[in-house]
This record gives sequence, C-alpha cells and structure tokens, in this order.
Amino acid sequence: MSVALVGAGPGDPDLLTLRAARLLATAEVVVHDALVGDGVLALIPESAERIDVGKRPGHPTPQEMISTLLVELGRQGKRVVRLKGGDPFVFGRGGEEAEALAEAGVPFEVVPGITSSVAAPAAAGIPVTHRGVSAAFTVVTGHRRHGEPDVDWRSLANVGGTIVVLMGVSQRGVIASELISGGLDPSTPVAAIESATTDAQVVGRWTLAALADAEVRSPAVIVIGAVAAFDFRSGYLPAMSEATAYAPIRSSQPGQPHLR
Ligand code: SAH
Repeated sequence: MSVALVGAGPGDPDLLTLRAARLLATAEVVVHDALVGDGVLALIPESAERIDVGKRPGHPTPQEMISTLLVELGRQGKRVVRLKGGDPFVFGRGGEEAEALAEAGVPFEVVPGITSSVAAPAAAGIPVTHRGVSAAFTVVTGHRRHGEPDVDWRSLANVGGTIVVLMGVSQRGVIASELISGGLDPSTPVAAIESATTDAQVVGRWTLAALADAEVRSPAVIVIGAVAAFDFRSGYLPAMSEATAYAPIRSSQPGQPHLR
C-alpha cells in the first residue's frame, strides 16, 4: 500500500496504534497536520521527507492541494504516511483525501486513531458514558462553514446524553446560549480539555451558563453534560442524586424516548 491515512491519536505518542508506529518507522514521506503532537513527530525517521500542511490561521494549505500532493506522492510509489490528529475520519477531512486517492486509482489504507473526542475527556477523568448518568454521546463540530448546514443546537439539547464539541472554542458563547434556548439546564456541568494528553494539558470546569466567559484556548475538547462533573483521576464521583440532577433533558416533545 503506497499511501496510508494514519490517525496519530490525541498527542501522547504512547497513544499511537502499533500499526501507526510501524508505518511511521518505515515511511519515506510523512505529510502531517498542525495538530499532530511533537512526541509523535519525533518518531518520524531522519531519512523521511517531512511535509507540514498544517492549517494554521493565515497560512492554510487548501484541502485540494493536500489531496493532489498525496495523489502525486502515491503515484511515485513512495511509502507515504498521511498523519492526522486523532482519527482520520473524525473531522479530519480524511474522507476527502480517501476520495481523491480512490478516484486517482492510488491504493491506500486507513489506520484509525484514538480520537480526541473520547481521549480528551478520558484524560480529564471524564467517562463519556456512565451507567445511570449518560447513555449516549454526540460528537459535533462547533466550527461554522459557509454553505454547510450548522449544527442544530436546539434539537441537540433534546437528544440527551453527553455532548462533545470539537473546534468549538471560538463559538462557545453561541453554543451555550443555543443549547440553553433548546432546553438544556444552565447549570449543566461543562469541562474543557486543552491540549489533551500533552505536557500542556489544561482542564477547566464550569456550568453551561458560565461557558461563554470561561477562558479556553484552542485546541480544546468541550464536554457538556452531567459526566463533565466527574473526575476519575482524583476519584471524584458526584453523588448520584447530584449527577442525575443535571438531567440534560427538558423536552418540549413528550413521548420521545429520552437518553440520559
Ligand atoms: N481528527 C481529530 C479531530 C480534528 S478536528 C480527532 O479525531 O481528534 C480538530 C479539533 O480536535 C480541535 O479543534 C480540538 O477540538 C480537537 N483536538 C484534537 N486534538 C486535541 C487535543 N490534544 N486536545 C484537545 N483537543 C484536541
């Protein structure tokens, strides 16, 4: 297989899959994003060519150029690793790259990675589901793109369970107020995990009502729901009555099945 779309996990190189580590060790070219952790980048062999296509604000590499680059490198028959933060198919635009490679007839494989949507909460001691508290988790993007439908936050407020927001830092005020308008209790616990699983990890906790004014720096995963009050790192488990008191539902549609 000449091109591998590889998930690099959330940051800590110990959270790479064995297959990702093996492919990295033998790669001739590594094309990576800005979000890939330094510890993972350190595993790229000296002999490999390293191409940073990180989409930093103001210096973006357009997605079409990345796809074209992968097709060209693949056609040269090189062992190419396309390294993406977390899992390649979770908001990583890995699907678009897979599409371009498939259309060009370039063989490729996909190596799943540990997505930050579960790894970041876990790193803060937060279980995304917990018996009796949350029976579902919904992963959404907080990023607005022109021409694409926005997340229907008000409906999401009625889904129940845990809400995990990626790319939501700049829109956190809007997200909180939309969820509250949709019926979510303003006292619902919220946690934000910045730079999860790296040396720079910071965890903040607030209520949904306080999220707009909370200090949160990108990249961060925002967790909304009763489980956000948990911290199994310290063994902190809110009393069950306290946890379930943050019922995520105040549904205006009786009769609908509710997940907690
Ligand atoms: N494919 C990635 C997500 C890419 S979208 C994955 O599966 O994790 C980029 C967003 O992911 C960031 O804006 C942030 O919300 C989240 N993210 C990725 N790595 C992170 C980390 N180490 N700490 C906190 N958030 C992270």
